[in-house]
Formats: sequence, structure tokens, C-alpha cells
Amino acid sequence: MSLVTGGSLQSLRRTNQERILQLLLRNGAMHRAEIARQIDVSRATVSTIVSAMIDRGILVQVDVPQSGRVDGRVRERVAISRTLGVAAGLDFTLDRIAVHLSDLEHRALVSRAVQVPAGADATERIRVAAGLLDAALADHRLGRDDVVGLGVGVPGQVATATGAVGPSLPGQPWAGLNVRELFEEHFGQPVMVDNNTRMEAMAEYLWGAGRQAPTMLHVNLTSGIGAALIIDGKLYRGAVGGAGELGHVSVDPDGPPCPCGNRGCLIQQAAAPAVLAQLRPILGADATVSDVVTAVRSGDRAAVGVLADAMGVVGQALANLCNLLDPGLIVIGGPIAAAGEVVTDAVRTAVQRYAMPAVNFSTEVVQAHFEESTQAGARGGAALVLQEAPHLSSVLRRLAR
Ligand SMILES: [Zn+2]
Repeated sequence: MSLVTGGSLQSLRRTNQERILQLLLRNGAMHRAEIARQIDVSRATVSTIVSAMIDRGILVQVDVPQSGRVDGRVRERVAISRTLGVAAGLDFTLDRIAVHLSDLEHRALVSRAVQVPAGADATERIRVAAGLLDAALADHRLGRDDVVGLGVGVPGQVATATGAVGPSLPGQPWAGLNVRELFEEHFGQPVMVDNNTRMEAMAEYLWGAGRQAPTMLHVNLTSGIGAALIIDGKLYRGAVGGAGELGHVSVDPDGPPCPCGNRGCLIQQAAAPAVLAQLRPILGADATVSDVVTAVRSGDRAAVGVLADAMGVVGQALANLCNLLDPGLIVIGGPIAAAGEVVTDAVRTAVQRYAMPAVNFSTEVVQAHFEESTQAGARGGAALVLQEAPHLSSVLRRLAR
């Protein structure tokens, strides 16, 4: 039996404090018993540490009116005090910038967006984003010092190691820029950068249709088709950050050439421009994705047929992914997903038909919880900060001091 000195007891308690804070940052409010189970420490020890942290104003009790004391045990959940900071998300699409703030208890404080000209350069976009973020903070009497981390979503491929955006889409204002460095210089806060689809996946995983499903695949159907994979609660980016380019999976090797250099890519059959090209002769030369969604919802047979066929091809590609990865849950988001069951039914039918028996009927296919208008990407930026901010340990040390 080894002797535990006063110093090592203190350091053990500090370690347990950090683990509790880390759990609460990732999950929001939790019961003490669940904390004890997850960090494999006795309930009594957790209760002692939590009480001390409540006394110091680091943690707070929540849900007090609903729970109260039962069987002599304290049943209220605890969370990190909202006075200690906020996680912020910014999301940039071609013509829109969105912001979202979440407190450390995981409550949404504000979600809003502004339009920007599609031709705006990176400098102009950062200027507008800074104004948007500062106004959102000011509404809650907060400043940039209160931001524990900023998650930034941009279109295109982002190199995991550097935060640089690859030279991908035409007209992509961030191409070739190191977005992480740009934002860290401008905002003076730790920044995490990733692509829009991964950010939306994080929002769905933490607060939406995924609700912390251990493994899920998020698909974003828009002018491109992106996918983001969460495996065992962690966002999977691939070796260099290039994972998830579902839209450039070839579904017809003899098909037309794609700007990516491949032939017969999925986007050429199923992304918004392909769907619109088939439906504009019927719905009008200026028809948009939103017109297609309206037509599908009102039962327009041509619109339903074209979209169902396109989504069947997406489902076939997803069936291949199911065979490889068995994600268990596929969440369909993006503007096309707003058409609802026509999309999810077509994808589900294809997965059931083409995936192997072990996964074909066990894979759930659902519509995303957050629509584009709810600033899903910016929400996901804040979610990513709470889930895996790389500077978490320094934040935790500051919180526990
Ligand atoms: Zn391609």
C-alpha cells in the first residue's frame, strides 16, 4: 500500500476537477452520478469536488425547481457557470455570414446572420463578421475577452495541420489563405477552422438530430454534396483533412468530366445545379432550390420524381459508405433536405436496397434538426469549441484557479 502525500492528494483533486470541467464543457449540465460514472470516481468524491467548485462560483446547480432531493441524495444537475465565458461560432457561405453564441452550460444565447455580396473578399468578410460577433456579444453585455474559443466554418477543404484552405471551388474567397491564422490575428482568440459541413454535423451531433449518437454521418445537400463523419463521439477529418468529399465520388465512370478532374461525380447527378437543370423547363428558368422544395411539398409530380431519382443516387453512394463504416445514423441536411420525406425516403430506400444485410435496415436516415436559416453552421462552430478546443487545458486551468 502506498502512502499518499498531501501534495499528491492535491494534484489528484486538481486532475479530477479538470476531468469534471472537461466533461461539463463537452456535455453541458450533468447529474453528479453520471459524472462519477464517466470519470470512474466515487459519487462521494465527485460530490465533494463539485460542492467546492460551486462554492468558488465555477459550477452552478441547474434544474433546481424540477428535481430537489430524493432518497436523501442531491439530484440536481450541475453545469459550468455562464459567467465564465461563451463559445462562439462564425459560419461563412458564399453570400452569408452567421454567428452563434453558446454559454458553457450549452444554452444558445444568440443566432443571427447577414447577407454579403458573393464577390466580397476575405478582408471584407472578416470585417463584417467582426461587427456581427461584437454586436452579438454586446447584446449580452459580453466582450471578446469572454469568448473561450471561436469556431469558424468556411467552404472547401481545410488542412487539419495548418488551418489553410485548399484551392478548391471557383470564386471561393478563402482559397489559398490560412484562415486560422487570419482569424487569430484579427480576433486575438484561439480559433478552430473547418468546413461548413463538419460544423453543421457538430451542431446536429451535440444539439440536433444526432443528440450525441456515438457514430453518425451528416450529409449536406446544396450546390455541392458534403459529408461529415463522427466516429465514437469524435469528428473524423482524415489524414490531411480531406475526408467527406461525397459529392466527388464517381457514380458513372463514363459520365461527363467534373471540374475536380474526375468523371461522372455524384454532384453531377444529384447536387442542386443538376436538379435545377432538369426542373427549370417545368418550374421556370429562374427557379431556385427553394422553388423546388415548395413544388415537392405541394406534391408536384415532376419535382417529386426528379428529386427522388437524384436522392436515390445519393442513397446508393451512401450504401457503399454504410458497408465500409456502418454509421448507424445518417442525418440529411442542407437546403435540399428541406423537401422532407421525399429526400429521406429515397435515401433510406436506396440504403436498404444496396447496403449489406448487417447494416441495411439498422441504419436510420433522418432529416437534420437545424435548417440553414437557424445558422446551423455557426451553431456547429460553437459546438466544436465545446467539444474539442485545443486550448481546453489552459481554459480549464483558468476556470479551476
Ligand atoms: Zn468531381
